Amino acid sequence: MSIVAHDSVSAVPTNTAAAAATPSWMMRGKAAHDAYAREAAEQEVRREAQRRLHRFRIDVNEPARITFLDGALDEDGLLAVPSLYEHSVQLAGRWATFVCVGGGAEPCPICDSGRPPALVAAFTVIDHRPYTIRRGPRAGTVVVDQRKLFVAKKGTLARLQVKATALKGIDGVTMAVTRLDTGDGLSPGVGTEFDVVERTPLDVLAEKYAADGVPAVPADYEQEFPYLPASRLRALGLGRAPAASPAYGIAPRTFDVAALAERM
Ligand SMILES: [Zn+2]
Repeated sequence: MSIVAHDSVSAVPTNTAAAAATPSWMMRGKAAHDAYAREAAEQEVRREAQRRLHRFRIDVNEPARITFLDGALDEDGLLAVPSLYEHSVQLAGRWATFVCVGGGAEPCPICDSGRPPALVAAFTVIDHRPYTIRRGPRAGTVVVDQRKLFVAKKGTLARLQVKATALKGIDGVTMAVTRLDTGDGLSPGVGTEFDVVERTPLDVLAEKYAADGVPAVPADYEQEFPYLPASRLRALGLGRAPAASPAYGIAPRTFDVAALAERM
């Protein structure tokens, strides 16, 4: 330990006057600029999210009926649906999903902050439940037969593959869905039980469930899962571990996406 002579302190070129004049809740300079940039980026992400399809989700013991608009089999007899690695993270107090960029040229900032991605497969469905719009100019309007994204993790995909193998695909298939409580509160939000009700030709569905003159066809998945480069993820503050979660206080590491895929 060393004792610094009193007069050496004044020799240190600091901006103490300005620092003292800035209360802890006020930002200046780079900190303020970063906050504005981050807010603008968050707004942009929210706007993009509004343009996307809602994701199908049910509560425990809530009955639902959905019709798959895709889910044909490939030549190997497997469901020919897009799969990708995705992060679910909290952004400005809401859950948001981001495509993992770990397979690209740069390491993924979200992986590096200690949050591993999930491997998901995407389908497009018609959700036959009536839904009352809560906000905006159409609040109170009841809508039915909404086109939604059905995002399945490994276990759900395996269940649907069993159905698809038996039926030679699940495209055009209407299913009754229920979500049973697995006891840990972690049952898949898309449901756990799938019972086949009927099958309808895709062209009939496209016309029957057309909305605003647009036929009900499978989603444009590149639009539904926008790929934000690492720089934009960092601009959203997603390169840091969430401060409120001490569980993430582990050393950051890059997840090996290929190794993760093998384990799933
Ligand atoms: Zn990642």
